[in-house]
Amino acid sequence: MTTTPHRAAGADSGTAGLARAFAEYVPSIEARDVVTVRPRYGLVIDGAEREAREGRVFATTEPATGAHLADVAEAGDGDVDDAVAAARRAYEGGWRDLPGRARAKYLFRIARLLQDRSREFAVLESIDGGKPIRESRDIDVPLAAAHLFHHAGWADKLEYAVPGMSARPLGVVGQIIPWNFPLLMAAWKIAPALACGNTVVLKPAETTPLTALLLAELIAEADLPPGVVNVVTGPGTTGAALAAHPGVDKVAFTGSTGVGKAILRALAGTGTRLTLELGGKGANIVFDDAALDQVVEGIVDGIFFNQGHVCCAGSRLLVQEGVAGELLDRLRRRIELLRVGDPLDKNTDVGAINSSAQLERIRGFVEGAAAEGCRIDQPARAIPSEGLFFPPTIVSGLGGSEAIAREEVFGPVLAVQTFRTEAEAVAKANATAYGLSAGIWTEKGSRILWTSQRLRAGVVWANCFNQFDPASPFGGVRESGFGREGGRQGLAEYLSLAPVGA
Ligand code: NAP
Ligand code: MG
Repeated sequence: MTTTPHRAAGADSGTAGLARAFAEYVPSIEARDVVTVRPRYGLVIDGAEREAREGRVFATTEPATGAHLADVAEAGDGDVDDAVAAARRAYEGGWRDLPGRARAKYLFRIARLLQDRSREFAVLESIDGGKPIRESRDIDVPLAAAHLFHHAGWADKLEYAVPGMSARPLGVVGQIIPWNFPLLMAAWKIAPALACGNTVVLKPAETTPLTALLLAELIAEADLPPGVVNVVTGPGTTGAALAAHPGVDKVAFTGSTGVGKAILRALAGTGTRLTLELGGKGANIVFDDAALDQVVEGIVDGIFFNQGHVCCAGSRLLVQEGVAGELLDRLRRRIELLRVGDPLDKNTDVGAINSSAQLERIRGFVEGAAAEGCRIDQPARAIPSEGLFFPPTIVSGLGGSEAIAREEVFGPVLAVQTFRTEAEAVAKANATAYGLSAGIWTEKGSRILWTSQRLRAGVVWANCFNQFDPASPFGGVRESGFGREGGRQGLAEYLSLAPVGA
């Protein structure tokens, strides 16, 4: 950091004792030996693991240490062709014609196997991606299993999902996912696709391929027919080849708005179905009647969960003027008590930043905000000097035109603005090109309804944040994309629907 951040007042006031006690603790490190990380991983095509045709590989590393973890096969165009062809054979060769209850049986089996091996998945997710084990163990893996169970339950009931319509699968689905929730995004994508009778070619993110590959092993263990789920690892070019492949009937993409737009352009006029789950700049709106202690926890969860690498993060705090000073004081004290460090330590609140490129991007935003005259608050305690880490950061004194007020940082950085009236809160919350999430904090139900009806966001939480359930549709509007994942709406994205009897 070249900026000189403010140090939280708590460091030299009444909370100093608390901060000292906080500093003295015993680490509780999750054992790594539940996982075997192989030196080399191949592509998973047609039920078999194999090298890329051109023999290319790329490395995945451990963000917390910088250690090299494994070399992974890099799929070229020919490999993507093979994977799409395998998915097509599996689709036409039986998967699409299986009764729903048979598809359900496979999905239930995968879900149970994932639960059986949950510790292994959680540790691998934290090693490869940098997220705290507490989160991978308590959120990513259980929620991934929940998505599999939920969609297993729908597989033989599709005619009830969209009443009055007959539902048929689409065919081969190309699915491209980002690095922030590697296993969870894989489950979000694969579960509804298979439940609806489609087959899949999945492209994980380059920095976090390992849990998707372990999931592919588990899928083989569950005896899924070869070719129903194929995994092609590689960089953006692999994703681009998959998205534009003429043998793909639907593309489901989760990632940045820039890449989403490129895919939309590539698919224009092709008739390929598309859903885009893109970036966000979610506003957490705090009215002056809200319960402030509860709000502090909601804001912390909204922006520091998963190092802020969350599309629906509450990365903007909009607070009503009368309580702004008090809330900011409490927040500044609260970030003193967030533990930044080893993702495998069960005490860790904020883990490692996923890649050095992402760390540079976050630094750039915070330095830019400091140069524009904003106030930067960071905890007094040092963060680890090895590995990729960034402290929880509060940026205040914003005018609203700064990059940090408008653009997605995708890191542990909260941008704070104030407002006076409900109308001003709504106007500021909507002053972004995105439209994924928002939060409203108030004791008044009527205020929740009034505000939420005016927010341009796919998901609005009231007096809570970052709550997910497979039965609840998730997705954005405007530059946050279109289409929904989860709920009956999410199923419809993987089905061809026609009125019954048509
Ligand atoms: P990204 O650069 O768009 O990458 C997402 C995926 O697309 C990765 O697998 C990536 O491969 C691949 N990719 C890159 N270039 C491509 C191209 N030209 N054509 C097809 N695929 C391509 O996004 P990211 O930086 O990994 O992820 C962060 C972004 O995802 C944030 O903007 C975040 O808000 C968004 N996100 C949205 C949601 C949601 O549900 N709305 C959920 C999570 C994340 P490589 O990894 O090899 O580059
Ligand atoms: Mg990695």
